[in-house]
Amino acid sequence: MKTDEQIAGQCCWCEGELSAKIQGIGSSYSESISPEETFQAVPLPKSERTIYGAIIKKGSRALTEGFHLMFATCSEACTQELNQALAKENGRFLRQTPMIAEA
Ligand SMILES: [Zn+2]
Repeated sequence: MKTDEQIAGQCCWCEGELSAKIQGIGSSYSESISPEETFQAVPLPKSERTIYGAIIKKGSRALTEGFHLMFATCSEACTQELNQALAKENGRFLRQTPMIAEA
């Protein structure tokens, strides 16, 4: 297990360092999420790996729009690879949209 601090500074896909301009993918997630946690470990069996998504907080606009997790990435290339990996997971991630946030 990684600490929240380690996860927060890393690209969820390549584990490279995140820059100030974080991009990533907001996604719905059909499995249970622990609302008291900051990050959720998400197994991706089709890609044979586990990634971490930031849990979108109660009361945020993204949550009301149907997003549950935000996967932060370091680059457009990682965003695209992640998007393809999520798409392979048989509908576990129903909605995906690129997101950009200033850290
Ligand atoms: Zn990356």
